[in-house]
Amino acid sequence: MEQQFDCLVIGAGMAGAVAARELAERGGKKVLVLERRDHVGGNAYDCFDKAGVLIHKYGPHIFHTNNKRVFDYLSRFTPWRNYQHQVVANIPAEEGRLELPVPFNLISLRAAFPPEQAAALEEKLLAAYGPERKVTILELREHADPSIRALADYVYEHVFVRYTMKQWGQKPEDIDPATTARVPVFLSEDCRYFQDEYQGMPLEGYTPMFQRLLDHPDITVETGVDALSRMELAAGGVLLDGAPFAGTVIYTGAADELFGCKYGRLPYRTLDFVFESHPVDWWQSHGTVNYTVDEDYTRITEFKYLTGQELPGKTTIMKEYSRSYTGADGEIPYYAIINEANNALYARYREEAAAYPQLRLLGRLAEYKYYNMDAIAARALELCDELLK
Ligand code: FAD
Ligand code: UDP
Repeated sequence: MEQQFDCLVIGAGMAGAVAARELAERGGKKVLVLERRDHVGGNAYDCFDKAGVLIHKYGPHIFHTNNKRVFDYLSRFTPWRNYQHQVVANIPAEEGRLELPVPFNLISLRAAFPPEQAAALEEKLLAAYGPERKVTILELREHADPSIRALADYVYEHVFVRYTMKQWGQKPEDIDPATTARVPVFLSEDCRYFQDEYQGMPLEGYTPMFQRLLDHPDITVETGVDALSRMELAAGGVLLDGAPFAGTVIYTGAADELFGCKYGRLPYRTLDFVFESHPVDWWQSHGTVNYTVDEDYTRITEFKYLTGQELPGKTTIMKEYSRSYTGADGEIPYYAIINEANNALYARYREEAAAYPQLRLLGRLAEYKYYNMDAIAARALELCDELLK
């Protein structure tokens, strides 16, 4: 085996697929990719359901980036559909329900408050921060002006606190501030969820993009294979199928699993996805609707908005329920729970990995970070820059 392959890549998600491509194409390496699931693409995998709707099996994925290198790189493997994601918070109102754009912006403000009050608040906010500014909810709640603080409390109550409790089991002030900062209050009329320069969806879906990334004569992909059943770490070296393997090993799985969780499991949140197909053209008003005040699920995504698929009379939606990850069979660790204690536990595994110079940890799981796809692609390109120097 060590003569057949120069590099071993574990996991065929964004991290593994980009790294494998780079090592093979730019580095001239023979690469073996082992993937535990029966498909490539990691959490960005998409497929057609029984109703013929293109769905995202592991949660809605919208590509967005300001990184031109990443955008140009992925554009080699897919054309794009221009899609600017929009999200609303769906909340109970005096009569029926109200939908407010998220991130909470000037349009949300005008929908939530009577005109005179909204105008006065808008004036104050713009004077305090300036137009087109993004302010985190935690920052806004600290503002000196009581009327701005009261607005912040409204947004906290109607957009953040219950959604965050559902998603994390904790209040916004008790989780990593970078998490709620992803969805700031936006002093703008721009109702898009992301403002990145490049955004969209792979025109034919993510899976064909990943298949093209991995389609190279020097890349061998084996799916349905748990690499940890084939690979062993021993005395500073790597054994593959029982024989010493001298090449680079890029590991994109969970850092604790690599070492048998010997220091304890890294905490994660997992998700249960409930898919429903309905005999209608459209189910809801936007690609994603967040239930920020009631319901047990956090959000509903209707895929046809994202993919642009034309399929009259049929649609598929997905509800997301978040809970603690236990490590049970079939459960997927989706969200690292970033805090001091967990980072310290992660650091112990990272240190353990450092004893194997040929081993590199890459990706959302292996690095125990809350990375978007573009950040992972960038990390993979940078790691390969370093390895191929
Ligand atoms: P993964 O996609 O998790 O891939 C890792 C792969 O390694 C998996 O396929 C896994 O099966 C495999 N693996 C693990 N252990 C082993 C093993 N022992 N042997 C073999 N294979 C193994 N990002 C965005 O940019 N936009 C979005 O809209 C967006 N939405 C998201 C929504 C949800 C619900 C979630 C959870 C994430 C979202 N993300 C989004 C983040 C995105 O999923 C990640 O950035 C990206 O998938 C990370 O790629 P990765 O390769 O690091 O990890
Ligand atoms: N959030 C919230 N209400 C919303 C949207 C987001 O409270 O309507 C908070 C919540 O804590 C969430 C975080 O902001 O986990 C980040 O949201 P994002 O949509 O970026 O999460 P992801 O798509 O990664 O699950």
